[in-house]
Amino acid sequence: MNENSRVETEWKRAVGRWLRIHEEERMDVQLAMFDMDGVLFDSMKNHAKSWHETMAHFGLTLPVEEAYLHEGRTGAGTINIVSLRERGHEATQQEINDIYAYKSQMFNAMPTAEPMRGAYELLQQVKADGITPMVVTGSGQKTLLERLAKNFPGIFSPSLMVTAFDVKHGKPDPEPYLMGLHKMFGNAAGLSKHRAIVVENAPLGIEAAVAAGVFTIAVNTGPLPDQVLLDAGADLLFPSMQALCDAWTHLAPNFTTSLLL
Ligand code: MG
Repeated sequence: MNENSRVETEWKRAVGRWLRIHEEERMDVQLAMFDMDGVLFDSMKNHAKSWHETMAHFGLTLPVEEAYLHEGRTGAGTINIVSLRERGHEATQQEINDIYAYKSQMFNAMPTAEPMRGAYELLQQVKADGITPMVVTGSGQKTLLERLAKNFPGIFSPSLMVTAFDVKHGKPDPEPYLMGLHKMFGNAAGLSKHRAIVVENAPLGIEAAVAAGVFTIAVNTGPLPDQVLLDAGADLLFPSMQALCDAWTHLAPNFTTSLLL
C-alpha cells in the first residue's frame, strides 16, 4: 500500500470511529480550527525554554520537556502545579503576576518564532476547499497574534478568532473550541460538531477539542512521544504540519463532500 492510500485508509477508519461514537451519519466540514503555538508557529521551543528558565529564576523547577505537557494551560495553572509540587501550596496572586511577567518578557526577547513549515500552504488549501480556517488559542501573546495577519495573509478573519482574551478557562477545558463553534455557527453550534475539525499539537489542547466533541487531528511537532497525543484522544496523528499538508490534497474530497461510511 502506498503512502497516500495508507493515509486515506487511516483517515476513513478514524472518521468511521468518530461517527459511531458521536452517533452522526456524516461529516461535512466547513470549519477548521487551528491551535497557534506549535501548529502555526514554531514557538513551543521558546515557550518551553522561557518557562524552564523563569522557574529556575524564582527557585522552582520545570524541566523543558515537562513544559510541553502543560502547553495550553493558563500561566497561573502551570505556576500553581509547580508551586504545589515543590512548596506544598499554591502561589500568591502577586507571585503569579511576577512569574508570568518575567516569563512573557523572556519569551518576547527570544528569537522570532518562524511560521511552521507547511502551515501557510495547508491554510491556503483549506480555504480554497471552501472551509473556513479559524485560530483557537489560549495565548494572549500580542506579538504572535499580530503576526498571524502578516505571516498568513488573506487567511483569517479577525472576527473569527478565539484567544486568551475571549475565554475564562484554558485548555483542557473545552470552552475555547466550543466558543469557536459558536462564533462560526451561532445557535446551531451544538448541532454542528460534524461540520468542524481541530488541528492541535498539545495533549491538553487535544483533550479540550475532544471534550468539545470535534474530530481532532494531532500534529506531533514537539518532543513528546506520539502515544501521549493519542492517549489524549486524537482521532488522527501526523508527524508534522508538512505531512498533514501533503496528505490534505488527497483527503480534500472527503472533507468537502459528505462522508457516509
Ligand atoms: Mg499548541
